[in-house]
Amino acid sequence: MGALEQPAPTGIDVSKPSIARAYDVVLGGKDNFEIDRAVVGEMLKIVPQLPEVAAYNRQILSRGVRYLVEEAGIRQFMDLGSGLPTRENTHQVAQRSAPDARVVYVDNDPIVLAHGRAILAENDNTGVVTADLRDPQAVLAAPEVQRLIDFSQPVGVLLVGILHHLHDSEDPQGVAKAYMDAVPSGSYLFMTSFCASFPEAAALEQTYLSVLGTGRFRTLEELQGFFGDLEMVEPGLVSLPEWRPEEPIGHELTVAERLMAGGIARKR
Ligand code: SAM
Repeated sequence: MGALEQPAPTGIDVSKPSIARAYDVVLGGKDNFEIDRAVVGEMLKIVPQLPEVAAYNRQILSRGVRYLVEEAGIRQFMDLGSGLPTRENTHQVAQRSAPDARVVYVDNDPIVLAHGRAILAENDNTGVVTADLRDPQAVLAAPEVQRLIDFSQPVGVLLVGILHHLHDSEDPQGVAKAYMDAVPSGSYLFMTSFCASFPEAAALEQTYLSVLGTGRFRTLEELQGFFGDLEMVEPGLVSLPEWRPEEPIGHELTVAERLMAGGIARKR
């Protein structure tokens, strides 16, 4: 522990890196420890633009949630693999447009709940659940999910920046489908994930797997499969900055811009 390191919240293991805390490092947050910074240091050797990539992911999260609230009329969200609270969290974006919007955050890292207290204090329409999203039945049955989500009304299911942390053997496609099967017609799946669309993808995947244990770079075709038979919202599954940009892009996309792909689709 460094001289200025904050003490770890109870129950948080600082001897192993955590995905949530490593992502916090990349986003320039303070809820991380030396081990997390060391891991991110290894990743930055291969793709120094990772902070840029994380920023694109947070930007599409805002644009996507705004679309779902303002254009699709969605008023309730399950944010699966939500990460540590940062700026422009899902409930803040959603409730700016629709103050009655309800959001339940789900993450398997207890540090998210430890740091999510402020979110919980903000309003009754927001909750945090510590659960493993690979077990959809347990997540769907969690009391906070049952309290906040009305499964007779359309739901925005967010799997943003998370499915690359599921190994192929964990059936990420089946996991996404299980959540979409539980929500009614008119619901949406919003997904972003690492995409093997650049030459360094294989090396970066190896680094992720060796230092963090997860991090799959899938092809666009594989990622498209996660949407199953849902109806893609324009412009479909694309590199993050290409999804409904606020300003025209006007240049050939960089590696950082192509490192992740994302899209939104509607359940018919
Ligand atoms: N969704 C946020 C975003 O895109 O900005 C955060 C993404 S962060 C890279 C991935 C988060 O998923 C981490 O907070 C990690 O703890 C969580 N996570 C990883 N595996 C998970 C699992 N099996 N169940 C629930 N959460 C998981």
